[in-house]
Amino acid sequence: MTVRINKSLCNGCGNSVEPKCVMVCPGDLLCKDPSNRCVIRDPKDCWDCAACVKECPQQAIEMTLPVQIGGRGSTLKAKTEKGRIIWQLTKPDGSKEFFEVHTRNT
Ligand code: SF4
Ligand code: SF4
Repeated sequence: MTVRINKSLCNGCGNSVEPKCVMVCPGDLLCKDPSNRCVIRDPKDCWDCAACVKECPQQAIEMTLPVQIGGRGSTLKAKTEKGRIIWQLTKPDGSKEFFEVHTRNT
């Protein structure tokens, strides 16, 4: 598995040299391409920690879930707000479910 970056949503975190997703990836797998969009350098090295998914302010990064968890083609995105993360599960048939997790971030 790996993450997928939607280039039409990614704005490169403005002109930041170190966008949020790049800063949090423990594997140093993310970087910007010449068009100021984020790309994943080596997808096979991604271990699906979801740190970048939670951190992206544009909701431009999504994870593909294992077949056993969500069915083939299901994906997960996140919207992080003060004190909570709203997870969006998109199922193979296109329907969506939302899960809210409270965090200790203030
Ligand atoms: S955090 Fe999101 S918007 Fe910012 S560079 Fe990464 S993918 Fe693009
Ligand atoms: S899911 Fe984790 S390891 Fe994979 S690219 Fe995102 S931050 Fe890096």
